[in-house]
Amino acid sequence: MSKIAFIGLGNMGGPMAANLAKAGHEVMGFDMVKASIEVFVGHGGKAAASAAAAVAAAEVVVTMLPAGPHVRGAYLDTQGILAAAKPGALLIDCSTIDVESARAVAAAATDKGFAMIDAPVSGGTGGATAGTLTFMVGGPDAAVGRARPYLEQMGKTIVHCGGPGTGQAAKICNNMILGISMAAVCEAFALAEKLGLDAQKLYDVSSKSSGQCWSLTTYCPTPGPVPTAPSNRGYAPGFTADMMLKDLKLAQQAAQATGAVTPMGAEAATVYQLLSAAGGGAKDFSVVLPYLRGKLGE
Ligand code: NAD
Repeated sequence: MSKIAFIGLGNMGGPMAANLAKAGHEVMGFDMVKASIEVFVGHGGKAAASAAAAVAAAEVVVTMLPAGPHVRGAYLDTQGILAAAKPGALLIDCSTIDVESARAVAAAATDKGFAMIDAPVSGGTGGATAGTLTFMVGGPDAAVGRARPYLEQMGKTIVHCGGPGTGQAAKICNNMILGISMAAVCEAFALAEKLGLDAQKLYDVSSKSSGQCWSLTTYCPTPGPVPTAPSNRGYAPGFTADMMLKDLKLAQQAAQATGAVTPMGAEAATVYQLLSAAGGGAKDFSVVLPYLRGKLGE
Protein backbone atom coordinates (compact mmCIF):
# COMPACT_ATOMS: atom_id res chain seq x y z
CA MET A 1 0.00 0.00 0.00
CA SER A 2 1.20 3.52 -0.78
CA LYS A 3 1.26 6.97 0.74
CA ILE A 4 -0.87 9.14 -1.54
CA ALA A 5 -1.57 12.89 -1.49
CA PHE A 6 -4.87 13.97 -3.06
CA ILE A 7 -5.30 17.69 -3.82
CA GLY A 8 -8.79 18.90 -4.78
CA LEU A 9 -11.58 17.03 -2.99
CA GLY A 10 -14.57 18.45 -4.90
CA ASN A 11 -17.41 16.67 -6.69
CA MET A 12 -15.01 14.39 -8.56
CA GLY A 13 -11.88 14.40 -6.40
CA GLY A 14 -13.74 13.60 -3.17
CA PRO A 15 -15.11 10.22 -4.29
CA MET A 16 -11.94 9.38 -6.28
CA ALA A 17 -9.79 9.95 -3.18
CA ALA A 18 -12.26 7.95 -1.10
CA ASN A 19 -11.84 4.99 -3.47
CA LEU A 20 -8.06 5.10 -3.02
CA ALA A 21 -8.51 5.15 0.77
CA LYS A 22 -11.00 2.26 0.49
CA ALA A 23 -8.37 0.29 -1.44
CA GLY A 24 -6.12 0.51 1.63
CA HIS A 25 -3.77 3.38 0.78
CA GLU A 26 -2.86 6.07 3.30
CA VAL A 27 -4.39 9.10 1.60
CA MET A 28 -3.67 12.66 2.81
CA GLY A 29 -6.26 15.01 1.36
CA PHE A 30 -6.23 18.77 0.92
CA ASP A 31 -8.77 21.23 -0.49
CA MET A 32 -9.26 24.99 -0.14
CA VAL A 33 -12.74 24.20 1.21
CA LYS A 34 -12.44 22.81 4.74
CA ALA A 35 -15.84 21.09 4.60
CA SER A 36 -14.64 18.93 1.69
CA ILE A 37 -11.67 17.73 3.77
CA GLU A 38 -14.06 16.83 6.60
CA VAL A 39 -16.25 14.78 4.25
CA PHE A 40 -13.12 13.00 2.99
CA VAL A 41 -12.01 12.18 6.55
CA GLY A 42 -15.46 10.61 7.02
CA HIS A 43 -14.59 8.32 4.09
CA GLY A 44 -11.34 7.06 5.57
CA GLY A 45 -8.91 9.79 4.45
CA LYS A 46 -6.49 11.91 6.47
CA ALA A 47 -6.62 15.71 6.64
CA ALA A 48 -3.66 17.85 5.57
CA ALA A 49 -3.26 21.52 6.53
CA SER A 50 -1.86 22.50 3.12
CA ALA A 51 -0.97 21.02 -0.26
CA ALA A 52 2.72 21.13 0.75
CA ALA A 53 2.00 19.17 3.94
CA ALA A 54 -0.09 16.62 2.01
CA VAL A 55 2.64 15.86 -0.54
CA ALA A 56 5.70 15.95 1.75
CA ALA A 57 5.82 12.19 2.41
CA ALA A 58 3.73 10.97 -0.55
CA GLU A 59 4.95 8.46 -3.14
CA VAL A 60 2.04 9.41 -5.39
CA VAL A 61 0.35 12.81 -5.79
CA VAL A 62 -3.06 13.12 -7.48
CA THR A 63 -4.63 16.48 -8.36
CA MET A 64 -8.28 17.08 -9.36
CA LEU A 65 -8.64 20.84 -9.75
CA PRO A 66 -11.02 23.09 -11.73
CA ALA A 67 -8.88 24.49 -14.59
CA GLY A 68 -5.41 25.23 -16.01
CA PRO A 69 -4.52 28.22 -13.78
CA HIS A 70 -5.34 26.18 -10.65
CA VAL A 71 -3.12 23.33 -11.85
CA ARG A 72 -0.24 25.65 -12.80
CA GLY A 73 -0.50 27.33 -9.39
CA ALA A 74 -0.74 24.09 -7.42
CA TYR A 75 2.37 22.62 -9.09
CA LEU A 76 4.55 25.64 -9.91
CA ASP A 77 4.07 28.11 -7.02
CA THR A 78 7.03 28.56 -4.70
CA GLN A 79 5.19 26.55 -2.02
CA GLY A 80 3.69 24.24 -4.66
CA ILE A 81 3.86 20.51 -5.32
CA LEU A 82 7.12 20.55 -7.32
CA ALA A 83 8.82 22.41 -4.46
CA ALA A 84 7.40 20.26 -1.68
CA ALA A 85 7.05 16.71 -3.07
CA LYS A 86 9.42 13.85 -2.27
CA PRO A 87 12.11 13.28 -4.94
CA GLY A 88 10.95 10.66 -7.44
CA ALA A 89 7.26 10.95 -6.55
CA LEU A 90 4.73 10.04 -9.25
CA LEU A 91 2.48 13.01 -10.16
CA ILE A 92 -0.96 12.42 -11.70
CA ASP A 93 -3.12 15.36 -12.80
CA CYS A 94 -6.73 14.26 -13.41
CA SER A 95 -8.18 17.77 -13.93
CA THR A 96 -9.54 18.75 -17.36
CA ILE A 97 -7.25 21.58 -18.51
CA ASP A 98 -5.72 23.09 -21.65
CA VAL A 99 -3.07 21.04 -23.42
CA GLU A 100 -0.53 23.88 -23.16
CA SER A 101 -0.74 24.04 -19.34
CA ALA A 102 -0.57 20.24 -19.11
CA ARG A 103 2.60 20.18 -21.21
CA ALA A 104 4.20 23.12 -19.35
CA VAL A 105 3.61 21.54 -15.93
CA ALA A 106 4.77 18.09 -17.12
CA ALA A 107 7.98 19.63 -18.54
CA ALA A 108 8.68 21.48 -15.27
CA ALA A 109 8.05 18.25 -13.32
CA THR A 110 10.35 16.25 -15.58
CA ASP A 111 13.10 18.89 -15.21
CA LYS A 112 12.91 18.37 -11.45
CA GLY A 113 13.14 14.56 -11.80
CA PHE A 114 9.47 13.72 -11.21
CA ALA A 115 7.44 11.28 -13.30
CA MET A 116 4.22 13.01 -14.40
CA ILE A 117 1.14 12.11 -16.42
CA ASP A 118 -2.04 13.94 -17.43
CA ALA A 119 -5.03 11.67 -16.80
CA PRO A 120 -8.35 13.49 -17.26
CA VAL A 121 -11.50 11.45 -16.83
CA SER A 122 -14.90 10.77 -18.30
CA GLY A 123 -17.81 9.25 -16.39
CA GLY A 124 -19.03 12.06 -14.13
CA THR A 125 -19.65 12.00 -10.41
CA GLY A 126 -21.49 8.66 -10.70
CA GLY A 127 -18.42 7.07 -12.28
CA ALA A 128 -16.14 8.71 -9.69
CA THR A 129 -18.18 7.23 -6.84
CA ALA A 130 -18.58 3.80 -8.44
CA GLY A 131 -14.89 3.64 -9.44
CA THR A 132 -15.80 3.16 -13.10
CA LEU A 133 -14.18 6.24 -14.67
CA THR A 134 -12.48 6.23 -18.05
CA PHE A 135 -8.95 7.70 -17.88
CA MET A 136 -7.35 9.30 -20.95
CA VAL A 137 -3.66 9.30 -20.22
CA GLY A 138 -0.74 11.25 -21.64
CA GLY A 139 2.88 10.72 -20.57
CA PRO A 140 5.92 8.47 -20.83
CA ASP A 141 5.40 4.67 -20.78
CA ALA A 142 7.22 4.17 -17.47
CA ALA A 143 5.14 6.79 -15.64
CA VAL A 144 1.90 5.42 -17.09
CA GLY A 145 2.94 1.92 -16.00
CA ARG A 146 3.53 3.16 -12.43
CA ALA A 147 0.19 4.99 -12.40
CA ARG A 148 -1.94 2.17 -13.83
CA PRO A 149 -2.60 0.26 -10.53
CA TYR A 150 -3.86 3.48 -8.88
CA LEU A 151 -5.97 4.48 -11.88
CA GLU A 152 -7.50 0.98 -11.86
CA GLN A 153 -8.67 1.61 -8.29
CA MET A 154 -10.60 4.70 -9.47
CA GLY A 155 -11.72 3.61 -12.92
CA LYS A 156 -12.29 0.71 -15.25
CA THR A 157 -11.02 1.90 -18.65
CA ILE A 158 -7.52 3.32 -19.08
CA VAL A 159 -6.35 4.45 -22.51
CA HIS A 160 -2.74 5.54 -22.94
CA CYS A 161 -3.10 8.19 -25.66
CA GLY A 162 0.57 9.13 -26.20
CA GLY A 163 3.06 11.64 -24.81
CA PRO A 164 2.44 14.53 -22.38
CA GLY A 165 -0.80 16.45 -23.03
CA THR A 166 -2.42 13.80 -25.24
CA GLY A 167 -4.79 12.76 -22.43
CA GLN A 168 -6.07 16.34 -22.35
CA ALA A 169 -6.23 16.39 -26.16
CA ALA A 170 -8.43 13.27 -26.12
CA LYS A 171 -10.65 14.74 -23.43
CA ILE A 172 -11.35 18.04 -25.21
CA CYS A 173 -11.88 16.33 -28.60
CA ASN A 174 -14.34 13.87 -27.00
CA ASN A 175 -16.21 16.64 -25.22
CA MET A 176 -16.37 18.72 -28.38
CA ILE A 177 -18.19 15.78 -30.02
CA LEU A 178 -20.47 15.60 -26.98
CA GLY A 179 -21.28 19.34 -26.92
CA ILE A 180 -22.04 19.41 -30.65
CA SER A 181 -24.12 16.22 -30.52
CA MET A 182 -26.16 17.42 -27.54
CA ALA A 183 -26.89 20.74 -29.29
CA ALA A 184 -27.89 18.81 -32.43
CA VAL A 185 -30.25 16.48 -30.54
CA CYS A 186 -31.84 19.46 -28.75
CA GLU A 187 -32.37 21.30 -32.04
CA ALA A 188 -34.04 18.21 -33.52
CA PHE A 189 -36.50 17.97 -30.60
CA ALA A 190 -37.20 21.72 -30.81
CA LEU A 191 -37.90 21.43 -34.55
CA ALA A 192 -40.02 18.29 -34.08
CA GLU A 193 -42.26 20.16 -31.64
CA LYS A 194 -42.82 22.97 -34.16
CA LEU A 195 -43.64 20.37 -36.84
CA GLY A 196 -46.22 18.65 -34.64
CA LEU A 197 -44.10 15.51 -34.21
CA ASP A 198 -44.37 13.85 -30.79
CA ALA A 199 -41.03 13.77 -28.89
CA GLN A 200 -41.39 10.08 -28.01
CA LYS A 201 -41.97 9.24 -31.69
CA LEU A 202 -38.81 11.12 -32.72
CA TYR A 203 -36.95 9.21 -30.02
CA ASP A 204 -38.39 5.88 -31.23
CA VAL A 205 -37.20 6.62 -34.77
CA SER A 206 -33.82 8.28 -34.14
CA SER A 207 -32.69 5.92 -31.36
CA LYS A 208 -32.93 3.14 -33.97
CA SER A 209 -31.72 5.20 -36.95
CA SER A 210 -28.62 7.04 -38.11
CA GLY A 211 -29.25 9.93 -35.68
CA GLN A 212 -28.53 7.59 -32.77
CA CYS A 213 -25.92 8.91 -30.30
CA TRP A 214 -25.12 9.03 -26.55
CA SER A 215 -26.75 12.46 -26.15
CA LEU A 216 -30.01 10.96 -27.43
CA THR A 217 -30.09 7.50 -25.89
CA THR A 218 -28.39 8.10 -22.50
CA TYR A 219 -28.96 11.81 -21.78
CA CYS A 220 -32.12 12.39 -23.81
CA PRO A 221 -32.84 16.13 -23.37
CA THR A 222 -36.64 15.79 -23.51
CA PRO A 223 -38.34 14.29 -20.43
CA GLY A 224 -39.84 10.83 -20.85
CA PRO A 225 -37.99 8.55 -23.27
CA VAL A 226 -34.94 7.90 -21.02
CA PRO A 227 -36.11 7.88 -17.36
CA THR A 228 -32.59 8.21 -15.87
CA ALA A 229 -31.71 11.32 -17.94
CA PRO A 230 -31.37 14.71 -16.14
CA SER A 231 -34.33 16.07 -18.20
CA ASN A 232 -36.62 14.06 -15.89
CA ARG A 233 -35.36 15.80 -12.75
CA GLY A 234 -35.58 19.44 -13.78
CA TYR A 235 -32.16 19.26 -15.50
CA ALA A 236 -30.30 18.82 -12.21
CA PRO A 237 -26.70 17.85 -13.17
CA GLY A 238 -25.14 15.47 -14.20
CA PHE A 239 -22.58 17.50 -16.00
CA THR A 240 -23.25 21.22 -15.84
CA ALA A 241 -23.66 23.46 -18.86
CA ASP A 242 -20.85 25.64 -17.48
CA MET A 243 -18.48 22.63 -17.40
CA MET A 244 -19.40 21.92 -21.03
CA LEU A 245 -18.78 25.57 -21.87
CA LYS A 246 -15.36 25.36 -20.24
CA ASP A 247 -14.47 22.26 -22.31
CA LEU A 248 -15.79 23.77 -25.56
CA LYS A 249 -13.69 26.89 -24.92
CA LEU A 250 -10.63 24.67 -24.36
CA ALA A 251 -11.35 23.01 -27.72
CA GLN A 252 -11.66 26.40 -29.46
CA GLN A 253 -8.47 27.63 -27.82
CA ALA A 254 -6.66 24.49 -29.02
CA ALA A 255 -8.14 24.83 -32.52
CA GLN A 256 -6.96 28.44 -32.76
CA ALA A 257 -3.49 27.53 -31.50
CA THR A 258 -3.09 24.71 -34.03
CA GLY A 259 -5.06 26.02 -37.04
CA ALA A 260 -7.65 23.21 -36.87
CA VAL A 261 -10.99 24.11 -38.50
CA THR A 262 -13.87 23.48 -36.05
CA PRO A 263 -16.92 25.57 -37.04
CA MET A 264 -19.46 23.28 -35.34
CA GLY A 265 -17.43 23.34 -32.13
CA ALA A 266 -17.43 27.16 -32.30
CA GLU A 267 -21.23 27.21 -32.76
CA ALA A 268 -21.73 24.83 -29.83
CA ALA A 269 -19.52 27.05 -27.64
CA THR A 270 -21.67 30.07 -28.60
CA VAL A 271 -24.89 28.23 -27.70
CA TYR A 272 -23.50 27.29 -24.27
CA GLN A 273 -22.15 30.82 -23.74
CA LEU A 274 -25.61 32.32 -24.41
CA LEU A 275 -27.33 29.70 -22.28
CA SER A 276 -24.95 30.37 -19.41
CA ALA A 277 -25.47 34.15 -19.71
CA ALA A 278 -29.23 33.48 -19.56
CA GLY A 279 -28.77 31.78 -16.16
CA GLY A 280 -28.69 28.09 -17.14
CA GLY A 281 -25.01 27.39 -16.45
CA ALA A 282 -25.53 25.40 -13.25
CA LYS A 283 -28.08 23.06 -14.87
CA ASP A 284 -27.27 19.88 -16.74
CA PHE A 285 -25.81 20.47 -20.20
CA SER A 286 -28.93 18.93 -21.80
CA VAL A 287 -30.76 22.13 -20.72
CA VAL A 288 -30.10 23.42 -24.26
CA LEU A 289 -33.54 22.09 -25.20
CA PRO A 290 -35.63 24.25 -22.80
CA TYR A 291 -33.26 27.14 -23.67
CA LEU A 292 -34.10 26.77 -27.40
CA ARG A 293 -37.79 26.55 -26.54
CA GLY A 294 -37.51 29.83 -24.56
CA LYS A 295 -38.42 27.93 -21.37
CA LEU A 296 -35.12 27.99 -19.46
CA GLY A 297 -36.68 29.44 -16.30
CA GLU A 298 -39.57 26.96 -16.07
P1 NAD B 1 -15.19 20.97 -8.12
O1 NAD B 1 -15.25 22.44 -8.28
O2 NAD B 1 -16.30 20.26 -7.42
O3 NAD B 1 -13.82 20.55 -7.36
C1 NAD B 1 -12.61 21.21 -7.52
C2 NAD B 1 -12.02 21.38 -6.13
O4 NAD B 1 -10.71 21.91 -6.21
C3 NAD B 1 -12.83 22.33 -5.24
O5 NAD B 1 -13.25 21.62 -4.08
C4 NAD B 1 -11.84 23.45 -4.92
O6 NAD B 1 -12.01 23.96 -3.62
C5 NAD B 1 -10.53 22.75 -5.08
N1 NAD B 1 -9.37 23.60 -5.31
C6 NAD B 1 -9.24 24.62 -6.20
N2 NAD B 1 -7.97 25.11 -6.15
C7 NAD B 1 -7.31 24.40 -5.20
C8 NAD B 1 -5.98 24.41 -4.70
N3 NAD B 1 -5.07 25.27 -5.17
N4 NAD B 1 -5.65 23.53 -3.73
C9 NAD B 1 -6.56 22.66 -3.26
N5 NAD B 1 -7.83 22.57 -3.71
C10 NAD B 1 -8.20 23.44 -4.67
O7 NAD B 1 -14.99 20.39 -9.59
P2 NAD B 1 -15.16 18.86 -10.06
O8 NAD B 1 -16.53 18.67 -10.60
O9 NAD B 1 -14.62 17.96 -9.00
O10 NAD B 1 -14.19 18.86 -11.34
C11 NAD B 1 -12.78 18.79 -11.21
C12 NAD B 1 -12.18 18.61 -12.59
O11 NAD B 1 -12.72 17.42 -13.19
C13 NAD B 1 -12.49 19.76 -13.55
O12 NAD B 1 -11.35 20.02 -14.32
C14 NAD B 1 -13.64 19.22 -14.40
O13 NAD B 1 -13.68 19.80 -15.69
C15 NAD B 1 -13.28 17.74 -14.46
N6 NAD B 1 -14.42 16.83 -14.70
C16 NAD B 1 -15.60 17.01 -14.03
C17 NAD B 1 -16.65 16.11 -14.27
C18 NAD B 1 -17.98 16.27 -13.57
O14 NAD B 1 -18.96 15.60 -13.97
N7 NAD B 1 -18.07 17.06 -12.50
C19 NAD B 1 -16.49 15.06 -15.18
C20 NAD B 1 -15.25 14.90 -15.80
C21 NAD B 1 -14.22 15.79 -15.55
